[in-house]
Amino acid sequence: MVMKRTLGVYKISNERSVFKPPYGKMEVMTPKFFYYVSKFTVQYFPRGTFNAVKIVEKPIEIGWRDFYVDYFPEFSGPIVGSIFKRIKQEAEKENFYRVLGISPMMLWKKTSQGEYTNLFHGTSNSKIGLSSVASLWDGESLDELILKVSNNCAHELGHTFGLEHHIDCLMDTERDRFNSRFCDECKNKIISLLSH
Ligand SMILES: [Zn+2]
Ligand SMILES: [Zn+2]
Repeated sequence: MVMKRTLGVYKISNERSVFKPPYGKMEVMTPKFFYYVSKFTVQYFPRGTFNAVKIVEKPIEIGWRDFYVDYFPEFSGPIVGSIFKRIKQEAEKENFYRVLGISPMMLWKKTSQGEYTNLFHGTSNSKIGLSSVASLWDGESLDELILKVSNNCAHELGHTFGLEHHIDCLMDTERDRFNSRFCDECKNKIISLLSH
């Protein structure tokens, strides 16, 4: 049996909690936004990396315990530890090959010392990539934002393939978020993982 390499894309939302994302960033996350971000994200990868994309309409809800309230409301956002768990539960039912979570808000991490660290653009583990829209939006048009978020999603998913940061590549932390591509070495690493 050939495993279908489906990318599952989730919307991270706090719609049903008392916290609302500031500055209307939730509003940009329409079905059209998800459709284009998914489409462009997949295009960064070698052909056949994903045979299918499934956009999961069901949002990952955030409870108040999993929400970091910053002094500056625009910096407030979900704490990733709990989101990883929630997405993992959802994604395992679907048997997704890789998973992407997109948050309209900033993403935060609770350290072992109990302090909160802003993760800015995103974070990832071995299967799930998380991307923040709020941290990427510098007031550009929606079309440009879609390209920027897609670039960031591809970077975060790159980490799920074991790719590490290096220069002149999409895995560069200082990359151009509109024009960067995976270098040949990264592409080859992804291709070699696909054949296993
Ligand atoms: Zn990175
Ligand atoms: Zn590279």
